[in-house]
Parts: sequence; structure tokens; C-alpha cells
Amino acid sequence: MRWYKADLHIHTVLSPCGGLEMAPAAVMTRAKEQGLDIVAITDHNSMANSQAYAQVARQYGLIYWYGVEVQSIEEIHIIGLFDSWQDASRFDTLLYDSLLPVENDPDFFGDQVVISSDETIIRFESRALINSSKWSFDEVLEQIAAHNGFGFPAHVDAMTFSVLAQLGFLPEYPPISAVGITAKGDIEQLKKLHPEIKNCLCIRNSDAHYLTEIGSGFTELYLERPTVSELKNLCESRDFARLRS
Ligand SMILES: [Zn+2]
Ligand SMILES: [Zn+2]
Repeated sequence: MRWYKADLHIHTVLSPCGGLEMAPAAVMTRAKEQGLDIVAITDHNSMANSQAYAQVARQYGLIYWYGVEVQSIEEIHIIGLFDSWQDASRFDTLLYDSLLPVENDPDFFGDQVVISSDETIIRFESRALINSSKWSFDEVLEQIAAHNGFGFPAHVDAMTFSVLAQLGFLPEYPPISAVGITAKGDIEQLKKLHPEIKNCLCIRNSDAHYLTEIGSGFTELYLERPTVSELKNLCESRDFARLRS
């Protein structure tokens, strides 16, 4: 068992709001400089860049968890993490089919670049990824769980696209064991305002859209094996001593 430093919310060139500097080698170089052990790439509503970044992460000696940031119909952002590409890609296919059929406007939102590990542009994603799935908050969490993943609401202390901003509270159902926190979020203050999250593990991440933001928020995890399923077990057993954020 040892401590692992993790940033589990990082965007790439696929996210229209992300910088075009977020190419695979540049992201992983920065992650190494920041002393991260585990990274998760979590683009908006798509895992089209996951495998390219996974390949480069492994070349840099980083542990890579497949991830995505889903936007539910209520405009709540939820992070989904997966151990296997098989589960992740099945989830990704269903997620893509659930997205509202809106085209991206690159001039307004920016390009959505699908890139290879050696930084060749493969294509531009035309479906607007900054948009909602037809799935509700509950359905997103259920679909992630049904694909052996671990889901938690993203950046709950943010003023926009967070479960607390959209609903005003953390619902009791479905049961939620962890919540995402912004890089600078004050967890103690948040727990005072929202006692319903007291029993949740708080996973702090950067939500990096630019290179300098990578690792600006991180969480340390005490794990036997650095897997998503172990993080899930840690959170569901409320093992607060094994998570520092
Ligand atoms: Zn978000
Ligand atoms: Zn994000």
C-alpha cells in the first residue's frame, strides 16, 4: 500500500473550451512535473481521445484511468471513471447516442480535435460536446455503474454545472459516496453549507483546460493497487483516512 497523487479531471484538445496546447505529450510532461502518479482524461461527453492519451501516459510512466465528464439533462457535470477500455468504450457509445443532436459551432465554442498519440489530427468532432445528454443525473450515475465504472458529481462547489448549483442540494438517491471539488474549493466551508455531503469523500481535481492548471487541484489516495475499483471501494466504505484532498 502507498499514497498516490491523482488529478482525475483533465481536458484535452477535444474539449472545445480546452486549449489547443493540451496535446498528449504536453499534458503528460506537465503531469510528471507536478508529481502526479495517476491521471484521468475527462473530456466533455466523449472519450474519443482516451486511448491516444492513455498510450502517451504509459510512455511517461503515469497510471491512466479512462474518464469522461458527462453533462446530464439537468446540466449537471458528472465524472465517470473506468478501469477497462472495453467498459469505457461501451459506455462512450451509449453516451454519444444520448447526446442532443446539436452541431458544434467552432467559431463560437472552439474546435473539437480528435488526435492520435503522435499528435496527428484524425478528425474534428462535429456533434456539440458542450451540451447535455438526454440522461438524467440518476441515469448517468446508473449507466456508469452498469459499465463497472465509478461516478461522482464534478466540482460540486462550482457556481455552474454542479449538482449543488443546479438542484440546490445533494439528493439522497441514488446513493453518492464521493463528490468532486474545485482546485481552490474550501471543503470545510462547503460541509457547513451542505451538511448532506459530510458523509462523502471529497475528490479534489484541477479541471484543467490549460497546461498550467494540471495538478493545481489533486487528491492523494492510499491504495493497494491503483485502480478505479479500489477507489470506488474506498469511497463506498467511507474510508476517510485513505484520502487526502
Ligand atoms: Zn464541468
Ligand atoms: Zn471539466
